[in-house]
Amino acid sequence: MPIDVSVVVPVYQERDNLAELVARVQQALQPTGWSFELICVDDGSTDGSPALLAELAAQRPWLRPVALARNYGQSTALQAGFERARGRYIVTLDGDLQNDPADIPALIERLQQDPDVDMISGWRRQRQDKALSRKWPSMLANRLISWATRVKLHDYGCALKAYRREIIERIHLYGELHRFIPSLAKEAGARIVEVPVRHHPRTRGQSKYGLDRTFRVILDLVLIVFFLRYRQRPLHAFGGLGLWLLVPGSLILSYLAALKLLGQDIGGRPLLMVGVMMVLMGVQLIVAGLTGELLIRIYHEGAARPQYHTRALPAPRREA
Ligand code: UDP
Ligand code: MG
Repeated sequence: MPIDVSVVVPVYQERDNLAELVARVQQALQPTGWSFELICVDDGSTDGSPALLAELAAQRPWLRPVALARNYGQSTALQAGFERARGRYIVTLDGDLQNDPADIPALIERLQQDPDVDMISGWRRQRQDKALSRKWPSMLANRLISWATRVKLHDYGCALKAYRREIIERIHLYGELHRFIPSLAKEAGARIVEVPVRHHPRTRGQSKYGLDRTFRVILDLVLIVFFLRYRQRPLHAFGGLGLWLLVPGSLILSYLAALKLLGQDIGGRPLLMVGVMMVLMGVQLIVAGLTGELLIRIYHEGAARPQYHTRALPAPRREA
């Protein structure tokens, strides 16, 4: 049976935050009259979080805890929650109460009232993380991701987001791709707006990430940019570069061959090496592109993943 709102929260070693989280989500959603559920996905915590969740759920039919077998990471925890969500609208939050559950109703109302918006991304305008070692990398990451994926947002790192259900059904999270949900959602046809939300300092528990995350974000960014631009046409990505090497390489070798025919000795010329390398690499890249094309066919046909999504046509305007 479908319900109105699913709230999905990944939880890893957040025992001391859980009771308040559950209470604050209830406080925010119960007065609205919407049917709702809170899906807390425990990501292999060893601090007793799963037991506490089970206890809290005993008297709250709308609280649905899920316990993953081990620590898989935030993206997989979110994905597990998404697969269980029954809501027409789906909201995500962090489990550490840095996001404010009281912001949820406004986001849902916006989705209900504005048919042109499929996803709302929170913007922590007054970010409450003290350390500069968090703010600077995050600022840089926001700029870099916005520029590279052409989805302009001020705040990619905010966990508080709201979606229409269809969007979530179209994306699949793994690795550490949760940071790129807006890019993935846009690729899946979503229209995204950014809305300022509250942000609080973490008062209990510890952050699970350090500075090393910055470097992984850069690698993931390469993956995402490639995925978004060339997923449908890998031959253009690899083959394009391949041609740029193959054509000049062939010209160089033809030139050297002509010299050879004229009786010159070309064996010691560095240009020969350059030509051979360019031709070899060019051919290899084109082959890589062709292999990519084969993989894309398997990707779309094998997993029955649609190549595109459609949206409902706007209702025709009535003549006055
Ligand atoms: N989290 C998770 N699995 C992990 C790491 C984190 O489910 O392996 C959860 C964590 O419990 C929190 C959210 O993801 O609800 C964000 O983590 P955190 O607050 O540590 O990140 P930060 O806010 O410091 O960027
Ligand atoms: Mg946090």
